[in-house]
Amino acid sequence: MTHPAVEKLRALVRIPTVSDRDPARVDTAAFDSFLAEHERLFPRLYASLELTRVGPHGLLFLWSGASDARPLVLMAHLDVVPVDESAPWQHPPFSAEVNDGAVWGRGTLDDKGCVVAISEAVERLLEQGVTPAQDVWLSFGCDEEVSGTSAVEAVEELTRREVRPWFVLDEGGAVAGGAFPGIGRPVGAIGVSEKGTTTLVLQVEGRGGHASTPSRNGPTARLARAILRVDRHPMPSAVSDTTVELFRRLAPHAPLAMRPLMRNADRLRPALAKALVAAGPESAAMTRTTFATTTLSGSPAHNVIASTARAGINVRVMVGDSVAGVVAHLRRVIGDKSVRIEVVEEGEASPVSPVDDDAFRLLESTVAELFPDAVPAPYVMMAATDSRHFTRICERVYRFAPFRMSKAQREAIHSYDEHLGVDDFLAGIDWYRRLIERLT
Ligand SMILES: [Zn+2]
Repeated sequence: MTHPAVEKLRALVRIPTVSDRDPARVDTAAFDSFLAEHERLFPRLYASLELTRVGPHGLLFLWSGASDARPLVLMAHLDVVPVDESAPWQHPPFSAEVNDGAVWGRGTLDDKGCVVAISEAVERLLEQGVTPAQDVWLSFGCDEEVSGTSAVEAVEELTRREVRPWFVLDEGGAVAGGAFPGIGRPVGAIGVSEKGTTTLVLQVEGRGGHASTPSRNGPTARLARAILRVDRHPMPSAVSDTTVELFRRLAPHAPLAMRPLMRNADRLRPALAKALVAAGPESAAMTRTTFATTTLSGSPAHNVIASTARAGINVRVMVGDSVAGVVAHLRRVIGDKSVRIEVVEEGEASPVSPVDDDAFRLLESTVAELFPDAVPAPYVMMAATDSRHFTRICERVYRFAPFRMSKAQREAIHSYDEHLGVDDFLAGIDWYRRLIERLT
């Protein structure tokens, strides 16, 4: 038996709430039992907060504060991605074993750690009879990993009730160790925007036919040429204002040789963009819209020439670019009218939330209080979160989970060996508690 809050996390990690784009493939019994268990573990929360159900299993709670002038929304999601059975998990993914001072299992980091830490922070404050200074909303989605609708429904409910959040906080960044080469201190990385996720399909049609009499430049060859052209002609790279601010804040903690470049990032944007692209795919992705060719389909048989060849291109749209601009770029670099470009999923980059702002300063100073060694800094997230839907009703949408995460832990998200340190989890509860206590 570890700390009671850790037992709550373990109980909820053991319930495999795996979401799926196909509702028929969702184990609704698992979600039902997750919700029942959540209610059993946080009785004060259910007794004192007003609950609205959103989507099939999403929860939207209102904790009425002394004022409703500057409402805060704390977000997390209770669904998880599936487990690859062949991956070498050191501990079974739904066992929630405690080992080496950590809870191991799918969802510990993404994102049940946040669900439980937020719930526990509220439960403890209720136990102490605390009323928050401002309304606090808790929005727990059930289908974040499959871009579902529960967060959209939460936004609709808030809109219906004419709630304009002061700020929204969702998963995203973390107290990230080893995030930047040469920087010894962890970075309290607070996402202020996220790239848009867009999916395109390139499609070429032709005659097809018998493989014994092929002609040149058929659909498959044209598609292959288009894919190579996309690969060879990335979108232009640039250093965003957010990245300039990130570097400015990290500069004092960087090796001496790197400091002038980082401190003067604003003036040195073109050189810096080049350096980031050269440094590898991760840092290159910070500077531009990216294209990844993912699905491929063509002929169904070895002796048949394809009459249709298709490739999926997963696009992550950078702040400053647009889906229309991406399509125009692709048309130009592919330079072949027979290649049809179809947008099957359209997601623009999210607006950038302010940094020179009271809400951001509250997050920053709460990071400084609980994680004094960390350097709080804004960044642009590469992945998507449910919080993007809230940009419709709120200009301050931040993405930060108050847990220390090593590089290995961050790599375990959506992969194997996902685990959250017990002490780090407990510190996260304190962080949410302090954030609510510090509302004025
Ligand atoms: Zn997540």
